[in-house]
Amino acid sequence: MKIILLGPPGAGKGTQAKKLAQKLGLPHISTGDILRQNVSQSSGLGKEAQGYMTKGELVPDQLVTSMLIDRLKQPDCLNGFILDGYPRNLAQAKTLNEVFQNMGIDASLVIYLDASENIIIQRICGRLVCKKCQANFHVTNMPPKKEGICDYCRAELYQRVDDTQDTVKNRLNVYHKETSGLIEYYRQKGNFYTLNADEDADIVLSQMFELVQKTNGSAKIQS
Ligand code: ADP
Ligand code: ZN
Repeated sequence: MKIILLGPPGAGKGTQAKKLAQKLGLPHISTGDILRQNVSQSSGLGKEAQGYMTKGELVPDQLVTSMLIDRLKQPDCLNGFILDGYPRNLAQAKTLNEVFQNMGIDASLVIYLDASENIIIQRICGRLVCKKCQANFHVTNMPPKKEGICDYCRAELYQRVDDTQDTVKNRLNVYHKETSGLIEYYRQKGNFYTLNADEDADIVLSQMFELVQKTNGSAKIQS
């Protein structure tokens, strides 16, 4: 099962991908998470990417793409994966096709999480992220059981530097300019489904799971 998640920032790609990954026993591959990890470790890649990320711009393709290819080569990706945050423009989509061709695989399912702008802004500006496991929470929509602490691994929660009102506006502009065209691109390729991501997270997750089962009858719940 190779699942690609599309959608604007704040649609819930990260939240849903993590839950679906756990249910299906597949790795969740978020280019944003990997980049943030690099930034927090001050790696060479992190230093190069940081400025773009803070402003809400895309990190240059060659940096993100080689990082992604390295990740997809890991043995845990052999049975499939859930891709979140890549591709983000047409060049990346074309590269991904080539990567899939070289690996002898194809995307089995593309899910577009469609969300309205007021909901996106409300979600992003209240988002909290775990420093350690990257789980997402929200101050009012999905509060952690204990304030400031991750429910899953007890590490500290923080607000992303790009989760501010101004940067969100830029991220939305970048999304409309660079990324939203991929919806039509993948619709035409097939195995493409749109879900209304304004709905509660639980509803979206169960709809995603239904799609997975429809596409791949052998999918089993792990927990
Ligand atoms: P969101 O979807 O909420 O904007 P992400 O965690 O997916 O958040 O991405 C955060 C930032 O990381 C982006 O604004 C961008 O700077 C960078 N980034 C992530 N994925 C890519 C990508 N595929 N190509 C270029 N930049 C990326
Ligand atoms: Zn955690």
